[in-house]
Amino acid sequence: MLLPEKFLTCVRCEDGLKREEGQTPIPGEGIPEAEVMLIGESPGAEEMKYGRPFVGKAGENLNAFLQSVGLDRSKMYVANTTRCRPYKVNEKILKNGTKRVTKSNKPPSKHAIQSCATWLDIEIDLISPKLIVTLGSTPLKRLTPDHGISKVHGTLLTVPIQRVGEKEDSRKFALSDKEYHVFPLYHPAAIIYRRELQEVFESDLKKLRKAIEELNITSVFL
Ligand code: SF4
Repeated sequence: MLLPEKFLTCVRCEDGLKREEGQTPIPGEGIPEAEVMLIGESPGAEEMKYGRPFVGKAGENLNAFLQSVGLDRSKMYVANTTRCRPYKVNEKILKNGTKRVTKSNKPPSKHAIQSCATWLDIEIDLISPKLIVTLGSTPLKRLTPDHGISKVHGTLLTVPIQRVGEKEDSRKFALSDKEYHVFPLYHPAAIIYRRELQEVFESDLKKLRKAIEELNITSVFL
């Protein structure tokens, strides 16, 4: 783990307070010298269980999509916008009178995104990627609030990104002086619920491959 040990006990936002016993926030994963950094939204139940980002079905989907254009996830660094699972609790009274309690994922709140920004900034600084690939709307808005995914998916942006200040407890965003290469993709899970995005997503992946070649990044190929 690249983050300091104290990260593992972070309770800066409501989602940290809802972690189950034995669970920790989920740090990014990958090689420190990765040239490409993938940023998703938040961990789900599987990620919290295994302590790793993008595992289970979501991880398999991501790996397969990348492989389809000759890219190798294990040569990248993968992180999330926030590092504890945002969820809501659903209660239902069954016909036999018993209560069934389930948890379902929800998007991270603005407060959680701001609270977790320090950790993401540290990871971006340590990795210093040549290219950041955002997966879904949440990481795109976190980094570049003026861009909407429906307009810029599948295009290479060269832009300043939002960062919180140097102070560790800061939640206030400001744009960086430096410009970063950012390539927005839809979240792979969105394809499952919105089948009409499948073709768009596959086309964007080919554009991602092309952008990686144009940036002379050769370390992420299969
Ligand atoms: S989501 Fe981020 S800020 Fe919130 S408790 Fe977890 S690690 Fe801390």
